[in-house]
Amino acid sequence: MTATPPCGSHLSYAEGAALALDADWVVVGSGAGGAAAAITLARAGHSVVVVEAGPWRDPEDYPHTMYGTMRDMFLNWGSLVATGDSIIPVVQARLVGGTPVINSAIVVRTPGDVLAQWRDEHGLGAVFHEESIGRAQDAIEAELQVQPTDRGVMGPTATFMLDALQRFGMEAHPTDRNVANCKGAMQCLQGCRNRSKQTANVLWLRELIARGGTVLSCAPVDRVRLVAGSAEGVDGRFEHPVTKTRGAAFGVRARRGVIVAASATGSAPLLQASGYRHPWLGRGWRGHPGAGVVGVYDRPMDMHVGPSQAAASLHLRATGGVKLEHLSLPLELFAARISGAGRDLMRRLEEYRHCAMWVSAVRCDAEGSIRRTWWGGTALHYVPSRRDLARVREGTKTIMRMHFAMGARKVYPGVVGMPTEFTPDMVDQIDRAPLDNRCWTWVLSHLFGGCVLGADPARSVVAPDLAVRGVKRLHVVDASALPTTLGVNPQHTIMAVAIVTARRLAGA
Ligand SMILES: Cc1cc2nc3c(=O)[nH]c(=O)nc-3n(C[C@H](O)[C@H](O)[C@H](O)COP(=O)(O)OP(=O)(O)OC[C@H]3O[C@@H](n4cnc5c(N)ncnc54)[C@H](O)[C@@H]3O)c2cc1C
Repeated sequence: MTATPPCGSHLSYAEGAALALDADWVVVGSGAGGAAAAITLARAGHSVVVVEAGPWRDPEDYPHTMYGTMRDMFLNWGSLVATGDSIIPVVQARLVGGTPVINSAIVVRTPGDVLAQWRDEHGLGAVFHEESIGRAQDAIEAELQVQPTDRGVMGPTATFMLDALQRFGMEAHPTDRNVANCKGAMQCLQGCRNRSKQTANVLWLRELIARGGTVLSCAPVDRVRLVAGSAEGVDGRFEHPVTKTRGAAFGVRARRGVIVAASATGSAPLLQASGYRHPWLGRGWRGHPGAGVVGVYDRPMDMHVGPSQAAASLHLRATGGVKLEHLSLPLELFAARISGAGRDLMRRLEEYRHCAMWVSAVRCDAEGSIRRTWWGGTALHYVPSRRDLARVREGTKTIMRMHFAMGARKVYPGVVGMPTEFTPDMVDQIDRAPLDNRCWTWVLSHLFGGCVLGADPARSVVAPDLAVRGVKRLHVVDASALPTTLGVNPQHTIMAVAIVTARRLAGA
């Protein structure tokens, strides 16, 4: 191993001699959980090395096309899927700053019913409660400039949704987002090239380096070093961001401990690869799959204008298990969502400017699993239940009604076995849409579990203090630890849980 490099640096792909570093803490993964934990420890005066599998991109370097985004910023070009009785695409990022760099920046506080469920069913009441989570979320909102989306930057696709919800007497709100000076450029999902989105690559990781911390990028961790029941550090090899060629080996020794925050698709497989065993490892994998309904209007709706997600409703969350959201997609992604081929597809794509898409994100009951395959891949098993399907069907019907109430000529619900195009007189036909997972056009982007948190040692991989059971000096602070779905967008909860945990570890 070579000598330790100077503190306060960013080191990326390298070939040649192996690299050795030393710090109080090593954090694996720089997304919502990892970055929040790392900056909390650094501010408390601890030395921190963050090790991130993906590359560091500044907003000026974000690709201009969705294809480039998938190549440079998505995990495996967006090719990860959950299988069961169907194939559901799973979207996650792989770059410095993690999935928040490509998310819609929606910030929602942890609902009180979720904290009550964590207290009553998972024994977490002493650690995660309204006061501890609320205090962390106050600080996050102040730092990340969280504010309601201004109607002035919304396109008609979002304002129409707010109007439709109000017309139906349903709760409606502009989304709260971690953005400053949003220009409504519809680039949230490709990475905000205007630097409006307040993500860790533009804020917390820069501050971490200024405080003497180190960030390794293009540095997938292959294993946590577990020695005699204690986490001593991590090992891996740099990986070229485009060719995936493996470069120099690196190792980071952790004087105080290792924090794993490699996400709901990364943390459980990493612990498995490190030789850790627990009957619950990889279990309790959950999600909020979403299904969109497109309305086609006579007037231009200009889906390419405004933030990606500017309007939402929690009206059906408690009773129907569904959150309704506006979602605008760039033409390239829209083309993948819309039905048809050849002339049919071209006709529908020509209508792009006249389309609006609203989504049901379902708080699914289904519990899946994740594991590392023998060749080092990730196997995800996930099958939404009949109740989950009934929920998406009901959400879809509500959205169809909303589109027609606002004057849509036709809607595309995207359900196999149903007509492609619905006119207003056909809405009730959706009640006959099959409760069969293979018929729905779902995407999974809110993921939970694999290293679930809880008080029962037999049914949780990490204890309420987020320490991995049976191993000293090892913690998990990302979406993989959350024991339940939330029914709202998860990044705020993940960051708050990470901050509460890191403050305790720092003795602050
Ligand atoms: C398209 C999309 C839109 C979304 N919109 C919203 C939204 O508007 N609001 C919201 O609240 N949530 C949203 N989410 C979800 C939210 O972004 C995630 O729930 C959250 O980022 C998860 O945090 P995490 O820390 O668990 O993982 P991530 O943020 O994904 O970070 C994990 C990091 O670990 C790295 N990593 C993985 N394995 C390794 C390894 N072996 N070695 C080193 N590094 C590794 C990854 O490269 C990644 O950077 C969205 C998600 C998607 C995909």
